[in-house]
Amino acid sequence: MFYRLNKYEKMFLGAYVLSVLLLSSMLGLPPLRHLIFVILSLIIIYTCGRLFEFKKEYYKALTGLAIFYCSVFFVTLRVDTVVPLSISDYIVHESFAASLAMLIIILSSLINNKVLRSIVVMASICVTAIPIVIIWGYFFSANSFLTVEACMAILQTNPLEAWQYVSDYGSFEGSLGLMLVCGVGYTCARLVQLCDLKETGWKLWRLVCVLIVLNVAMGYRTRENIVGTLIYDTYVYASQYGNYQKNRQHRIENLALLPNVTNQGAKGVYVLVIGESETRDHMGSYGYYRDNTPVLESMKKEDNMIVFNKAWSCANDTVSALTYALTNKSQYNEFELEKAFSLVEVANAAGYQTVWISNQAQYGLADTPITAIASEAKQQIWLRDKVGHLKDGRYLDIPDYYDDKVVSELENVKYDDKTLIVIHLMGSHNSYNLRYPKEFARFSDGDSYEYDNSILYTDYVLGEILKKCNEIPDFQGLLYFSDHGEGIDAHVGHDNSKFTFQMTRIPMVMYLSNEFVKNRGEDYRILKNNTNNYFTNDLIFEVMMGLMKIDSPDIYNNTNNIMSNSYDNNVERFYTSYGKRRLVDDPACK
Ligand SMILES: [Zn+2]
Repeated sequence: MFYRLNKYEKMFLGAYVLSVLLLSSMLGLPPLRHLIFVILSLIIIYTCGRLFEFKKEYYKALTGLAIFYCSVFFVTLRVDTVVPLSISDYIVHESFAASLAMLIIILSSLINNKVLRSIVVMASICVTAIPIVIIWGYFFSANSFLTVEACMAILQTNPLEAWQYVSDYGSFEGSLGLMLVCGVGYTCARLVQLCDLKETGWKLWRLVCVLIVLNVAMGYRTRENIVGTLIYDTYVYASQYGNYQKNRQHRIENLALLPNVTNQGAKGVYVLVIGESETRDHMGSYGYYRDNTPVLESMKKEDNMIVFNKAWSCANDTVSALTYALTNKSQYNEFELEKAFSLVEVANAAGYQTVWISNQAQYGLADTPITAIASEAKQQIWLRDKVGHLKDGRYLDIPDYYDDKVVSELENVKYDDKTLIVIHLMGSHNSYNLRYPKEFARFSDGDSYEYDNSILYTDYVLGEILKKCNEIPDFQGLLYFSDHGEGIDAHVGHDNSKFTFQMTRIPMVMYLSNEFVKNRGEDYRILKNNTNNYFTNDLIFEVMMGLMKIDSPDIYNNTNNIMSNSYDNNVERFYTSYGKRRLVDDPACK
């Protein structure tokens, strides 16, 4: 069969197979179902060639477009992506690129009018090139792969900000590179315009229709490709953010109608610290073999410290977990998320001074609707900018910028007689080795030693935050929890497609001041008694309400408040993964 192919068919199909082999040699063999994508693509590409007067023109145009759409591989192979890409991701992307290219070539060749054809070709290539050009532009300016948070920042930007960004991060080489990418796109457009169909006849029309359907089906099946996923995730983020923002006024008006919220709550300073990707399985104080939580270990003995032993996260990504943790929406109620009150909104309504201090990107991993929640705080201190660059222009992963920066920020806060402070740490976010200064590189061998060092460092930071809090007059209590865990033993990050329960086993600790222990003895005793109760972090909102003494049956139920005697500790009722997995299925639950 292969010897009967003409020169151009051999070259293109051969190059396609070669690219798959090359990627497989780097990333491992693809699963069978993705090999089928490759075979189907080859058949469709070959059959499609039969539509055209000159196969040479068709294969030239197809080669140009395939190289253009797959040029993002160069970026993803050079720099880290948020989730490491597998051979399947590349194969799916190649199949998608081929289908998209064929559709553009076939549909434009149906137009006989030369002018109209060139307009259609230019327009379709311009539109499909937008993400490719942005990915390259971002690579040239930030030397990393485009992320959802960067897309969010692009969507929210204005021309002035965009220009500032370009002038700050643009370079001569970058501009040349970008011109080259655009040049390739333009050349492709010229090549596509030259593709003419054979003499028309009903057989040909039938084949045209079949190929259009096949390519649409293939494009749909491979829509979760490298670029498609990015666009879809950005769309989901943007719409969640938009909906939550849109309902803001509505929620504030509703809160104002609740007499047991308005100007309620106990006096004093309350602190909520949100950790990142910390699993209790790797914490000395929770029984891990390495002594990487010495501060917690020594404080555990004090009466003021309460360690909860059975906490899980409600989801295993930051946005999902914190969206529930920071609002009264949980796995155990039917509230609509858009209408769910946030911790900050309730505290504002209750008359608290509200403060948000974050070492995460503003449109970062902790984004939407979390950014919307944070933006309600009366004082906001963002140590990083929207995309995650540091304030002085360096990038997110500069290794000398650590969580201890939040400690000194506590001195810049304006305190009232009622204050709520939320601190969002970078914690053990990958890459782990960038999360701690070298003095904290205590472990240097064995599996996951860098992760364990990052935990050692978070333990230190928490200790420093507590020291600082104890200096604040009228400090009442601090609650620390992690947004989710990390599948560190299986080396799978917290990627949902590789779920392990370790991704959901989190630490939760509470430190209460002497004044709190003295004045609120009953609350303190309940907490002490409940340390072995089951808990998922979508109920953090309820704990904070309990701590601040905002007692409102309209917004939460005491059966979900671990500070209440009515807390429902029946293990059967608890879930994780947004209600998709039962806690009892985790062997650690026994
Ligand atoms: Zn996270």
